[in-house]
Amino acid sequence: MYPDRVLHWIGDRDVPSSGDTFEKRCPMDDRPLCDVARGTAGDVDAAVTAASHAAEAWGRVPAPARGEILLRAAALLRANERELAEIVQLETGKPWKNAVAEIGSSADLGVFMASEGSRFYGKTMTSPVPNRSVRTERAPIGVCAAIMPFNSPLAGVAWKTFPALLCGNAVVAKSHELTPYTAVAFGKLLCDAGLPRGLYSAVQGLGPEVGTPLVEDPRVGLVSFTGSAATGKLIQQRVSARGVLAKVCLELGGKNPLVVCDDADIDAAAEHATASAFIDAGQRCAAGSRIIVFDRVYGEFRDAMLERVRAVKVGSGAADACGPVISRQNLERLLRAVECAVARGARLLAGGAVIDALAPGYYMAPTVLENVAPDDDVSQQELFGPVTCLYRAANFDEAIALANFSAYGLTGAIHTFNSNRIEEFIARYRAGLVSINGPTYGAGPHMPFGGVKNSGNGFREPGTEALDVYCEWKTVVVNHDPARV
Ligand code: NAD
Repeated sequence: MYPDRVLHWIGDRDVPSSGDTFEKRCPMDDRPLCDVARGTAGDVDAAVTAASHAAEAWGRVPAPARGEILLRAAALLRANERELAEIVQLETGKPWKNAVAEIGSSADLGVFMASEGSRFYGKTMTSPVPNRSVRTERAPIGVCAAIMPFNSPLAGVAWKTFPALLCGNAVVAKSHELTPYTAVAFGKLLCDAGLPRGLYSAVQGLGPEVGTPLVEDPRVGLVSFTGSAATGKLIQQRVSARGVLAKVCLELGGKNPLVVCDDADIDAAAEHATASAFIDAGQRCAAGSRIIVFDRVYGEFRDAMLERVRAVKVGSGAADACGPVISRQNLERLLRAVECAVARGARLLAGGAVIDALAPGYYMAPTVLENVAPDDDVSQQELFGPVTCLYRAANFDEAIALANFSAYGLTGAIHTFNSNRIEEFIARYRAGLVSINGPTYGAGPHMPFGGVKNSGNGFREPGTEALDVYCEWKTVVVNHDPARV
């Protein structure tokens, strides 16, 4: 099922690279999984050429008819759930139920976006001038580049491609080098759903070698990027240096707080904090990596959380909750970050080491630190792994100040039954998503998702708001002459 060689998917066929190849290893056991085409600027050019030829006709297809193809693709996702979950699991190592859930949520997004084809609304406006009407219409952009992270490879590509296609665009996806085949399998499925040739391509390769020529190609009208803040900023700079600008949508990282007040349900808060920190091994933009606890309940909460952390099932099987991290390099980076934090005075409450029984898979024990300064690297840098820190807050104001003491602003949660604290948290914590008495994560096909500060540049995916990413608004002014009917 999983190929030995992963090629580009361009013009509805597998295309070898004009360059070299690189190896992808499986996070579950470190075995070589496949050789991947190491794309070049020439490969990107071929994909963008196919996309720009296909885009024009597709943009004239009525939106509800475009939606019908999305519906067929969503049905195929469901029909092929098992095979696709196997691909996602081989590439990421995530626990089986999470891999399956990713296929389901991608299909749900396809259904939601398909129905947006029948609600492709603009506005009508009044005009002070007689015999003039004014309205807005949604117009396609043309060729969209979709650049994805590794953590949810199918949802990642589906969240971008479904709204882009619905809005009448062609897509050139850049697979993450650590999850190369998912975007190709998705392309084959779109082809089976009846998507016209050339409208979707996936190119393989490394960011600087394939991502850079893609964002610099003047035929690309939108770069939709999900990944780290550092790469997002670089992409924005590259696009700004082009002769003709493109729209840039950035969905970036997070350092998400979960605040536990002294009136919280401590068991429920501990449950949500543990899930927020360790599902998908903390490799989630919405992972809870800063747990801020009122002094008065700190000890009680810490005990309750540590009990749950010790019970987290690490592995990739059906009953497991926390899988491996994506690569050996990332595993080493995470171990080093924890070690350095401890050297600076942090106290290790759990984890901090690999799980020997699961080696050579890249499994790290769920890790909890305390006594970490809020301005320490480990408090400020997004680690993107199974590591979370506990902080003490004397009162509500201090908790809010700590929550906001970050360059990121993606999500955040508060646990309290005091409605004044709830409303104040909603008003004062700066982020794209706040969660009350729940985890720091939470997304659905109808829910706009995105962040502020270094977590994004103001766009929201998915929801109806995603249409504003993948369309341009065109204002139409029509004058008529009643004397000439
Ligand atoms: P990354 O920035 O290292 O890579 C993301 C993608 O960018 C990859 O496909 C990579 O090949 C490509 N890339 C790298 N250099 C490039 C360049 N110069 N030009 C163009 N493309 C380039 O991020 P990652 O480690 O793969 O993913 C983890 C990050 O993604 C975390 O910060 C996480 O929070 C974020 N993320 C955000 C969301 C969200 O919705 N906000 C969702 C998931 C992940």
